[in-house]
Amino acid sequence: MNVTTTDRIYNFSAGPAVLPLAVLEQAQRDLISLPGVGMSVLEISHRSKTFDNIIEGAEADLRTLLGIPPNYRVLFLQGGASLQFSMVGMNLMPPVNRADYILTGVWSKKALKEAKRVGEVNVAGSTESESFTRIPRPDEIKLQDGASYVHFTSNNTIYGTQWKYDPDPGSAPLVCDASSDFLCRPLDIPRYGLIYAGAQKNVGPAGVTLVVLREDLLSRCSPDLPTMLSYKTHADEKSLYNTPPVFAIYMVGLVLRYLIEQGGLDHQLYLNQQKAGVLYDAIDNSSFYRGTAEKESRSLMNVTFRLPSEELEAKFIAEAKAAGFDGLKGHRNVGGLRASIYNAFPAEGVDALVDFMRKFEKANG
Ligand SMILES: *Cc1c(COP(=O)(O)O)cnc(C)c1O
Repeated sequence: MNVTTTDRIYNFSAGPAVLPLAVLEQAQRDLISLPGVGMSVLEISHRSKTFDNIIEGAEADLRTLLGIPPNYRVLFLQGGASLQFSMVGMNLMPPVNRADYILTGVWSKKALKEAKRVGEVNVAGSTESESFTRIPRPDEIKLQDGASYVHFTSNNTIYGTQWKYDPDPGSAPLVCDASSDFLCRPLDIPRYGLIYAGAQKNVGPAGVTLVVLREDLLSRCSPDLPTMLSYKTHADEKSLYNTPPVFAIYMVGLVLRYLIEQGGLDHQLYLNQQKAGVLYDAIDNSSFYRGTAEKESRSLMNVTFRLPSEELEAKFIAEAKAAGFDGLKGHRNVGGLRASIYNAFPAEGVDALVDFMRKFEKANG
C-alpha cells in the first residue's frame, strides 16, 4: 500500500517546507531496512560504515553541486540557523571583535543581536526604515575598516526579498545566512568566508544546519570556546564529535542526490525563475493583488503579497486552504500572504494557485 501524490496538497509553508516527492518515496521504501544493511537509518550507529557513506556522500554531492573548493570545510551541525547567529560571532569575531552587519529583516536583526554579545557591531546597511521591502543598493553599504567579517542574509523569508548580487565585503570575509535560499541557484563559493543554512526550508527536514566555511578561518576559533560551540571541534571531528542528526543528514543526502540527477543548480535556478515568474506576473497583471517587495529585490523563494483588505486576506486564506493550498498566511510580523515556492514546490502548484487567485478575484474583486 502506498500513500500517494493524490493525497498530497500544495504546501506553501515557509519552513519546514515541501520536500521532493521522489525523496520521500525513497525514504519510505528504505525506512524499515536500508538496502544491504537490514536496519533502518533511524537505528544505525553514527560510527557505522553505513553512516560514514551517508555523510561523506552528502558532503561530496554538496561539493559537486556548489563547486566547493578543497580549502573549504562542510559541517553538519545542530541548533538551527539560530545557533549560527551565536557561533559566527563567538568563533569569527576575535581578535578584532568588530563586525559589519547588513540588516534586511528580522533574521539579520537576530543575528546582529547575538554578535553584539561578543563585540562591536556596525550596521553597514539597513532598509528597516522602508519596512525591509528591498535589498540595499551597493552604494548604500558602508563598511568599516578592518572588520572581522561582513554578515548578510541572502533571502529574507518574511519580507520576500532576496539579494541579486553578492555584497562586496572589501578585505573582510563575507558571511551569509542562506537558510531560505540555499541551493536555489549556483553560488560563487570563493567569494564567501562562511555560509550557513538551516536545512528545513530548501534542503531537507529540520534538525540539521549546513555550514560551509573557508579553512583558514578555523584559526580564529579560540580554544577557550565551549567545545560544542567551536567550529574547530566539528571540523576536526568531521561533524561526528557527538551524535549528529543521523536521519536529517540522510534526508539532506537524498535531496542533494536528487538535485544532481535533476541537472544541478543552473537547472534549479531556471525552474525557480519560471515558477516565481508565473506568480509575480499574476500579481502584476492584477490591481486586486499587490506585491509587497520592490521588484528588483523580489525573492524567488517567498512571494509576499496583499489583497485590498485584511478581511479579504482572511477569506482568501480560508478558501485556499479548503481548496488544498496550505501555508499561505504571511508571517505574523507583516501580515498579508506569502507563497513559499522552494525548489521542491511543483510548478503545477503555482499554476493551480494562479488559477485560484483569478477565480477569487472574479468573485470578490
Ligand atoms: C528560518 C530562518 C532562520 C531560523 O532558522 P532556525 O533553523 O529555526 O534557527 C534563520 N534565518 C533565516 C533566513 C531563516 O529563514
